[in-house]
Amino acid sequence: MTEFQRIILHLDMDSFFASVEIREDPGLSGRPVVVGADPREGRGRGVVSTASYEARRFGIHSGMPISRAFIVCPHAVFIRPHFDKYTQTSARIMEIISECTDRWEQVSIDEAYLDMTHLETYEEAGAVAEELRHTIRERERLTCSVGIAPTKLVAKIASDFKKPDGLTIVRPLEVRDFLSPLPVGKIPGIGRVTGTELENLGIQTIGQLAEYDIQTLLARFGRWAVHMQKLAMGLDGGEVRSRERFGSVSRETTFQEDTADLSLLATTLDLMAKDLIENLVHERLVFRTVTVKVRYEDFDTHTRSRTLDTYSRDPGTLLRIAGSLLRDLSSEKKVRLIGLRLSSLHEIDAMQKRLDDFS
Ligand SMILES: [Mg+2]
Repeated sequence: MTEFQRIILHLDMDSFFASVEIREDPGLSGRPVVVGADPREGRGRGVVSTASYEARRFGIHSGMPISRAFIVCPHAVFIRPHFDKYTQTSARIMEIISECTDRWEQVSIDEAYLDMTHLETYEEAGAVAEELRHTIRERERLTCSVGIAPTKLVAKIASDFKKPDGLTIVRPLEVRDFLSPLPVGKIPGIGRVTGTELENLGIQTIGQLAEYDIQTLLARFGRWAVHMQKLAMGLDGGEVRSRERFGSVSRETTFQEDTADLSLLATTLDLMAKDLIENLVHERLVFRTVTVKVRYEDFDTHTRSRTLDTYSRDPGTLLRIAGSLLRDLSSEKKVRLIGLRLSSLHEIDAMQKRLDDFS
């Protein structure tokens, strides 16, 4: 598959740390909020982690020395970061994303790529994006921005295009016109140093970079020039590193004959549960979300999910939850198919490693 045949969605939370703080303390809403180091009357050390959009109007941005932020906006609300709150919120947002597709990749605490190629059209992908944004707003009272494009690179630039709370769709034939007028600095990986060198050659926009004489670029930047020019054309060669393997595990059974026999349904569910637990043990995984799916004789399909507070690999817990989800789904109609899925999986080793990181 060539790159421009994919449909990639990039989701990026808006001023994430600051937005979480404002959500927890609505009195901060509308005020310039700066999450970062202690400013100590402009003499503090350290940098800004995140600035709310109100604070950005004063020129405050991530990575700026906190002392500078205090000087340009002393009346801003300065807050020390609460990483536990951000990681918990992030986990719930990634959970919402995982409900939407198995082909997704978290790239930072507040960003993820989703591969939407299976939807076939940008209209469909746009509808899914709006639904996703709606769910996040409803459940987390936070906004995000989304870009949809044929490559990860263009999707990422697109999600930044109408921030905050924006959706930008760039179809394959629009990539060139979309990128051309943007400053080269919008390309991730082209920092201030390269940007200045490009500017010395008279290159300011991505379009100018894409069309610039490659020999001159090679002489100046070596092989990086070829890569840079590819980026300027929207090509990044990157695939969404699907978490399929760790995203979820599931089993489904279609009955030979549609059935209304509750004990048969329960036994089938038990067998699938045991099989899945064995699978998890083998892969050194634990789960947090259980989903039961039932397709009725008329092909009407219903699912019920429950997410635990902690990770588990206990067969008893799984059977109990699956059984109660099945009862929630009971109907007059006969059942054609029953499915069981475990998601929000984590590798035990990875979890241990992560805990060590924080200690
Ligand atoms: Mg963000």
